[in-house]
Amino acid sequence: MPERTLRVGALYPDLLNIYADRGNLLMLERRCAWRGIGFELVRSSLGDELDPDAHDLLYLGGGQDRDQKLCALDLSTVKRDAVHAHAARGGAVLAVCGGYQLLGHEYALQPGEHLPGVGLLDLRTERGDGRLIGNVAIEVDGRTLAGFENHGGRTILAEGQEPLGRVLAGHGNTGTSGYEGARRGNVVGTYLHGPLLPKNAWFADWLIAAALGLDAAELAPLDDRFEDAAHGEARRAAGV
Ligand code: GLN
Repeated sequence: MPERTLRVGALYPDLLNIYADRGNLLMLERRCAWRGIGFELVRSSLGDELDPDAHDLLYLGGGQDRDQKLCALDLSTVKRDAVHAHAARGGAVLAVCGGYQLLGHEYALQPGEHLPGVGLLDLRTERGDGRLIGNVAIEVDGRTLAGFENHGGRTILAEGQEPLGRVLAGHGNTGTSGYEGARRGNVVGTYLHGPLLPKNAWFADWLIAAALGLDAAELAPLDDRFEDAAHGEARRAAGV
């Protein structure tokens, strides 16, 4: 039996899973396995009750507007209290693109059509003209995250809502704000697909550590030659 186990709850993996976001889960699983940390993955989709104490990390991927609609309704009703309780006890959340949008207060698709958000992050999203697409790099606490974005939504952070990072190349939350993503404690939302974690191993480790209540420096170092090469490629693609 491993001493520790990372317990991951994947929300709506059947609906929110575009751009190979599933690779993020594989990355977490591998990095835990290489360190002798157990890994447990529980899927939870429409209508499933969520146990607020059962997971160290909740994960939401990206999705098309039509799939987001179904998830938005479920997340803001069936799973709402559990998601808030999970975050309140320090549980980690990683939400990418469509999932990120659902962590805010609402996603306004068009006049009269607003998807409810779960309200974990103080932000809202509006459908804009055209899509924001391309390679992207952001600066997060002096380090770089690189990935790929493709979203029609523009995400506006409320005053006081901390962004995840500063845009170095690409569009980010709105295309003009200079910010990308949002963070509150261990809850992180971002537009970076890529998939995000295989291209940014340091961030995968930050997330594993945060979810387990550790400092990233406490995780055993790994041979990251391939991961470093993937990161370098993603940065080059973004021109950083
Ligand atoms: N449907 C959302 C948008 O276009 C999210 C897209 C995504 O997850 N890539 O803004």
